[in-house]
Amino acid sequence: MLTCEIVSVGTELLLGDILDTNAQYLSAQMALLGIAVLHRSTVGDNAARLEETVRGACARSDVVLLTGGLGPTADDLTKEVCAAVMGFELVRDEEVADAIRAFFQRRGTPMPQSNLKQADVPRGGNVFPNANGTAPGMAMERGGKCVILLPGPPHEMRPMFDLQVKPFLQAKTTGVIVSHTVRTMGIGESALAERVAPLLAGGNPTVAPYAKQGESLLRVTARAETAQQAEALMAPVLRRIRDAVGEYIYGIDVEDIQHAVVQALREKKLRLATAESCTAGYISKRITEVPGASDVFDCALVTYSNEMKEKLLGVRHETLAQYGAVSAETAAEMAAGALRVSGADIAVAVTGVAGPGCSEQKPVGLVYIGVADARGTEAIRFDTGRRDREFNRYVTASKALHTVWQRVRSI
Ligand code: AMP
Ligand code: MG
Repeated sequence: MLTCEIVSVGTELLLGDILDTNAQYLSAQMALLGIAVLHRSTVGDNAARLEETVRGACARSDVVLLTGGLGPTADDLTKEVCAAVMGFELVRDEEVADAIRAFFQRRGTPMPQSNLKQADVPRGGNVFPNANGTAPGMAMERGGKCVILLPGPPHEMRPMFDLQVKPFLQAKTTGVIVSHTVRTMGIGESALAERVAPLLAGGNPTVAPYAKQGESLLRVTARAETAQQAEALMAPVLRRIRDAVGEYIYGIDVEDIQHAVVQALREKKLRLATAESCTAGYISKRITEVPGASDVFDCALVTYSNEMKEKLLGVRHETLAQYGAVSAETAAEMAAGALRVSGADIAVAVTGVAGPGCSEQKPVGLVYIGVADARGTEAIRFDTGRRDREFNRYVTASKALHTVWQRVRSI
């Protein structure tokens, strides 16, 4: 199996001015190609440190992928340093020079002479023309090592990678890596890991647990000659995961809980309404992120004040006075009210203390979720366990969506 490492070049990355999305993109693409990414590094626009990094990378890995530093200015050094390390001479490529001139002509702006520096390419290397900018990508191969240079701007780098570098690398590799992500809610990462412990020691497929914003995930990854063989290796492992933690799984390879909810509602031809207090529209925002949500989503009633809970949802004054806004009773009446007002098939309501301060002398993170349909109304208590307002609002919305998903599944 080929090994690879990714080097991101640019002082702006080290300063934290921009996020290194290129490395993330290339890592994911390499995995799909079945090339193992074993190291990733970031280096500034500095010739000596860049050279040291490239030499180290070439000593360790078969393929070194660099992005950034292909610009026309003096601080863009990637090409010069890599050519020196790999022993390639840089020569002017007239075809590339014409393409750069044409790029400026299309834009109707004069070309700075310095841009022609981007037409210098390694003699005997590969050139990847840039359809979305001026700097071409390139590859230099020597002694079983391959160094690939890509431009920094993601909108130039990605299409160049997809259309030109991918086929170039595909020709060098055999095999694929295929992954599935099992998404669960209602169980913590460590409890999940414990339940599937015997599977975590496997070499191929590997099973890796990780936590993400109130959810616990398992990534199952297999390496094989073909995608079909990889699937065959994973099938029994996925079965064992379902046996062990099936009740917590809301989807495999689904994007998120809102996608699962929209799909479940669509399958059962049901429409949803929400009544939101502490999330103030977060549930409906997430539902409507899903294309086609209008088929299943009716309305959101954001009732922050007690008065509006009474007026719009028909929550009884006595309920609010006796139990408070953050209570199972209020959540249930909010859900019942949203169902009645909207005429939807199912309604979910949330009321809670997002924090950081408490209200009604109730603890931060305490949330009640009400759910109502033709079969009746119920409310569940939920504690996020945190004082972080943004986290609490997000996780409350997730929990409400998960409650809807479970209810719909049971219909
Ligand atoms: P360069 O090829 O070094 O001239 O990069 C030009 C621009 O591309 C930078 O100013 C960034 O906005 C962007 N860029 C460079 N490297 C990365 C990276 N690793 N991830 C995302 N954007 C990048
Ligand atoms: Mg740069």
